[in-house]
Amino acid sequence: MEKYDLIVIGAGNGGLMTACRASKMGLKVLVIERHNLPGGAASSFVRGRFEFDASLHEIPDFGEGEIRGELGHLFDDLGIKVEMLPVKDAFRYIVERDGVRSLDVTFPHGKEKVMNLIREICPEDVEPMEKFFQAYHDMAAGLDYFGSTRGNPDQEVLRTKHANFMRIMSLSAGELFEELGMSKKCIDIMTAYWPYQGTDMYTVDASRYVLMVYGYFINGAFVPRMRSHQLTSAIVNRSVELGCKFLYNTEVTKVLTKNGAVCGVETDRGQTFECTAIASNAFPEVIYSKLLDDKSLVPVYERKKVNARKYGFRAFSVFLGLDASPEEIGIKDYTVFISSSDDSKVIFDDSGTRDGKEFAMDICCLNMAVPDCTPPGTTMAVLTISYTEDAWADVTEENYVKTKREVADRLIDNVEKIMGYNLRDHIEEIEIASPVTFARYMNTPQGSIYGYMSLKWDGMSTRTLVNGMEPTIPGLFFVGGHSSGLSGYFPTYTGGNRTAYQILGYVMGGGK
Ligand SMILES: Cc1cc2nc3c(=O)[nH]c(=O)nc-3n(C[C@H](O)[C@H](O)[C@H](O)COP(=O)(O)OP(=O)(O)OC[C@H]3O[C@@H](n4cnc5c(N)ncnc54)[C@H](O)[C@@H]3O)c2cc1C
Repeated sequence: MEKYDLIVIGAGNGGLMTACRASKMGLKVLVIERHNLPGGAASSFVRGRFEFDASLHEIPDFGEGEIRGELGHLFDDLGIKVEMLPVKDAFRYIVERDGVRSLDVTFPHGKEKVMNLIREICPEDVEPMEKFFQAYHDMAAGLDYFGSTRGNPDQEVLRTKHANFMRIMSLSAGELFEELGMSKKCIDIMTAYWPYQGTDMYTVDASRYVLMVYGYFINGAFVPRMRSHQLTSAIVNRSVELGCKFLYNTEVTKVLTKNGAVCGVETDRGQTFECTAIASNAFPEVIYSKLLDDKSLVPVYERKKVNARKYGFRAFSVFLGLDASPEEIGIKDYTVFISSSDDSKVIFDDSGTRDGKEFAMDICCLNMAVPDCTPPGTTMAVLTISYTEDAWADVTEENYVKTKREVADRLIDNVEKIMGYNLRDHIEEIEIASPVTFARYMNTPQGSIYGYMSLKWDGMSTRTLVNGMEPTIPGLFFVGGHSSGLSGYFPTYTGGNRTAYQILGYVMGGGK
């Protein structure tokens, strides 16, 4: 029987990036994926004349030339080539309730443009915004320092060089914005990205939000020319060149252990593969409660942590293929966030059920970044809302289709009313994905699309600082939206890459 250094369960972003880096470092790697395609959420599907992205709206930190970002450099370093196109603006943000619009602002990319807009619409926030950029640099420097010390920072260095980083770590994004002295209007605008985090401004940890917003504002946002499947295929192709093996249409059904450490997997095809380490793109609870052959090995601490965590957003998306051009429909923006309230906490608290009175949704039109992504005279638009709880748990098999259509209907109504688009008369193709769809496709609990919520006690800084120091089963590593890097394309790629180095250390240390 062939023995692998590393078996990766699942070919989502995290799994693929770990596999690619580990293969580049010379490890013998096998990736096992349930579906006939790699990518997990980073995939696409075709309906009629339209190829829809299953998830991606935008990715920060690619950039070209002087503004080549961290992700761009990571892809360069691994030799992964993908044509990425820039998205023009950061977002348009509309707050409207009962026909009364209280905010309508289009935010650009690039520090100079951002500052020009701030001077124009809220001049008293110029200084707080400068402090916000400084907060980013302090955060990034602190995290870099922690990374360089492998979890053993010098207290004196922390006290003298990273005091601001330590302070920011204890704050939520909303608290930080207040501390910086931002006006309510500026905080409202800075809050627009909150649906990308799945937590309101006073719950999400400042570090996570600051790093993401800075990435988008300064280096811009990007999309692959040919949907996220292009990104996925490029990583797979490069991994194969580097010697990695892939097994599709195969589900890992058992994680095998020996002497308290992982030693292999079994699949639904009856195969057994031996290995030294496992990187799981499947959630920890899936491994601990379903796949592990000896459940008594799960450390008490791990079990408690998994139980204490809250799942991230569960999404609902309506994919529309329209038989009219964006101009005919009146679409001018790439992303529009539409909210019934400027207070993310109000919406967050009301988003646990399907019939909440508040709403926050976005409409994303890929043609605005990739004009030829659909045939001439047509448009592709995706409408998305999210839930903070298991809002579809009570939907039965009998009323599933009806419920899906009702929710989709409401979203289309909202967009037609608020944006003034006529969508219904132009629908050529429509596909609807509910939390149930995402749960089935990604194999995530309750259809969580963002792993676990990024809370103050369990946010990005915390997970980064304790990464590698918390006990799991020897040889078992987690990658993907539920792991230390958190969710999103950037975090799952960079987190998967980092974990590959930890795995190399484990394998080279003879499984210790
Ligand atoms: C609607 C939507 C919109 C989004 N928009 C954005 C965006 O604009 N920007 C952004 O940065 N992020 C966005 N995200 C989030 C981003 O897509 C995810 O964070 C990321 O793709 C998750 O990657 P992952 O590594 O966690 O793997 P996943 O995508 O969760 O994939 C896990 C893979 O593991 C496989 N698997 C699980 N169990 C097994 C098993 N036992 N055996 C074999 N295979 C298994 C699954 O089949 C799957 O392929 C969006 C997500 C969704 C759903």
